[in-house]
Amino acid sequence: MDTGPLRKILDLEQKKGYQDSAVFGGLDRFLQNWSGQAVESVVSPQLLKRFRQLFKADYASMTVEQRREWINSILGFLADLEGKGSLDRPPVVSPVATPVKKSIPKVKKQSVPAGGNSLDSPVTVVRGISTSLAGKFGKLGVKTVRDLLYFFPHRHLDYSKIKFISQLAEGEEQTIVANVWQAQETRPGGRRSTEAIVGDETGNIRVVWYNQPYLVKKLVTNTRIVLSGRVSVFKGRHVFQSPEWETVESQDFVHTARLVPVYPLTQGLRPRSVRKLMKEFIDQWAWQITDFIPPELRDRLDLLKLPVAISQAHYPEDAVTKNRARTRLAFDELFLLQLGVMHKKRDWQEGRPGSPFDVKQPLVEEFLKSLPFKMTAAQDKVLGEILADLGESRPMCRLLQGEVGSGKTVVATAALLVAAANGFQGAFMAPTEILAEQHFNTVCELLSRVGQGEGEGYLRSYSGILSRPLKVALLIGDIKQAGKREIRKYITEGEIDIVIGTHALVQKGVDFHKLGLTIVDEQHRFGVEQRSALREKGFNPHMLVMTATPIPRTLALTLYGDLDLSVLDELPPGRQTVKTKWLKPEQRESAYAFIRRQVAEGRQAFIICPLIEESEAIVAQAAVVEYERLSREVFPDLRLGLLHGRLSAADKDAVMDSFRSGELDILVSTPVIEVGIDVPNATVMHVESADRFGLSQLHQFRGRVGRGREQSYCMLLAENPSEVGRERLDIIENVQDGFQLAEEDLRLRGPGEFFGTRQSGLPDLRMAGISDVALLEKARNEAINLFQIDPALKRAEHKLLAQELSRVWSGSGEWS
Ligand code: ADP
Ligand code: MG
Repeated sequence: MDTGPLRKILDLEQKKGYQDSAVFGGLDRFLQNWSGQAVESVVSPQLLKRFRQLFKADYASMTVEQRREWINSILGFLADLEGKGSLDRPPVVSPVATPVKKSIPKVKKQSVPAGGNSLDSPVTVVRGISTSLAGKFGKLGVKTVRDLLYFFPHRHLDYSKIKFISQLAEGEEQTIVANVWQAQETRPGGRRSTEAIVGDETGNIRVVWYNQPYLVKKLVTNTRIVLSGRVSVFKGRHVFQSPEWETVESQDFVHTARLVPVYPLTQGLRPRSVRKLMKEFIDQWAWQITDFIPPELRDRLDLLKLPVAISQAHYPEDAVTKNRARTRLAFDELFLLQLGVMHKKRDWQEGRPGSPFDVKQPLVEEFLKSLPFKMTAAQDKVLGEILADLGESRPMCRLLQGEVGSGKTVVATAALLVAAANGFQGAFMAPTEILAEQHFNTVCELLSRVGQGEGEGYLRSYSGILSRPLKVALLIGDIKQAGKREIRKYITEGEIDIVIGTHALVQKGVDFHKLGLTIVDEQHRFGVEQRSALREKGFNPHMLVMTATPIPRTLALTLYGDLDLSVLDELPPGRQTVKTKWLKPEQRESAYAFIRRQVAEGRQAFIICPLIEESEAIVAQAAVVEYERLSREVFPDLRLGLLHGRLSAADKDAVMDSFRSGELDILVSTPVIEVGIDVPNATVMHVESADRFGLSQLHQFRGRVGRGREQSYCMLLAENPSEVGRERLDIIENVQDGFQLAEEDLRLRGPGEFFGTRQSGLPDLRMAGISDVALLEKARNEAINLFQIDPALKRAEHKLLAQELSRVWSGSGEWS
């Protein structure tokens, strides 16, 4: 930022006798504009405060004397600014934490690991953070100084608009500045509390702080305080209930009179102390972070500088700056994500050539003809896209997105057949054992339509399809050691053509003879790492990733920029809309009665037990209890089965088989049932504690029914849903379309949580949200441009970016 032009204008204005004639349109307009741009360059909080105060002035309405004084003070300020070099240039970041500027409160001498960057030091180097406090932050995932800088508030309370007492309205978040007239201890409902009467020139108001009798001493009569909070009405009069407050002398407001951050908390972290700590911390440390976005790019996109964005994301000057901060930080996330995935794609596709298949196989035609149904147009199109990829020597990297029940498995089977016909092995990986088994059964069933089956259990053989018998195996953790050894051996020897399994497939000891195609089902449950681990098992095999989560296209391109996209946007004809109802706890009995009636008509039902966020063992235990209760007290005359993750493979198998064949009326299950299960005669999905599940998950549950000809139903029970829980239930009740649901889910949860990027090896998305489609496109385009100019980020101006990229992606272990 160049202060020259402003100086010149102010000089001119002085020469012209303070007539507000130095610039066209008046000085106020000019200043507003200039300060708007300059503010982001002021990197010290102290100077920023002076800056704000100075530039708030209304020049047009000043007297000549006032104008003279004011211009002098501005010039003084500019001199200070220049003198400290704090305009334009953020302080040079040294690897060791040193106080950057005199005006910033001294940073305590800190011990920094040798050669380490101060931002990677543990939070205990921050003044005010003890080991025990660090432990509490640790629970929130905050370990290092950098984590703490990126420990953003959930939201901000808008206490920025100061009102007179006479203007206060019920319910809103409001702020007043008032005098304390009197304060005393009271005991409403037996709780020792403080009650005060405060007033301004327009009136008085009563304030109550429950359980805080010690405030009496602090609220000395005639203290001027700022109060922020909601106002309620008690006995016809306004009253502030436990508002935030601080004295006017504090000047630098933390809890009131501004946009006040609301931080995530955990036991032992109190809002007021976290806020205070964060304010001091941000003021001291934000300036030490290096901006890794090249200045050219930052200017072109009009992005805030990183230190400014970080501090404004915590303690914003105003709503506009807060949004700019969010935009900058969201851009970073999306940009780095996009750069990372593009790199991966390049590594995969250009690193080593894959194996082109001969895709003109009469076998495919024959297979399609054997199906009991006609492929949908969407299935035909997608299969065409896959076959085209398989014919190339560049390995396929494709994401197949298809709504629940859109028929992805058939398409996958056709692709596996093509691999086998070309003498290559195919691997099909599912997220759960139950689903792997189901895929195994489905694939075998489909193959038995074109060939003669032989064998039982986890190893089967089909003749009449290829010139030799085609062998299919199931590999999951639960198969007995001897069996697993046998399958592994066959895989290594190339005896097995198609192997279906869980992540057991990517474990050590599984060595493929000639892996040519890998298919990963239900992508969002697997991490990038597993995806590539499977890939590494082959000689750069073709890869198909399938997901039932409809991802908005732009986001898909960003998150899975390493994959080409195919969409099954059509359901097979005759699918029912599942009638969905959100039930109150008192309606549970009628829900059970409804299940009973459906069973009487020959249908079957699922009952999903509550989600418990603890160990699998505890979840299983809860399911056992619920199963016993239902069997004994509710449905003693019906046939119930129980399914949970702790059962052995054989037991799971047995339960699923008897449910599939109609020997069971009701299947009580933990959420393991969520994906893929296909039992067309089941018409009722009953979900307990439905408010605890995400929308996409509820949609998956619902997708387990409505797969046959009969009208199906989804009943969602919720005891005491939170606000978000209620919103979700309301949406799932009214929206059937998976794509729309995914959008809603994204809106409610944000993509980070939605995709579980934390577990998946993708960098976190915290700031970027669904409303960011435009930003997403911008980030994507910029990443593509940059990638064209400097793919390896070798240029000097991209050095910091390259560092940041490898830091952010280091979790995935793939970035080099
Ligand atoms: P998803 O995409 O959810 O994995 P599946 O592959 O499990 O879907 O298919 C769901 C059901 O639809 C299966 O019972 C399958 O046999 C059936 N199906 C698949 N394609 C068609 C089609 N074109 N017409 C009719 N039914 C189909
Ligand atoms: Mg499926």
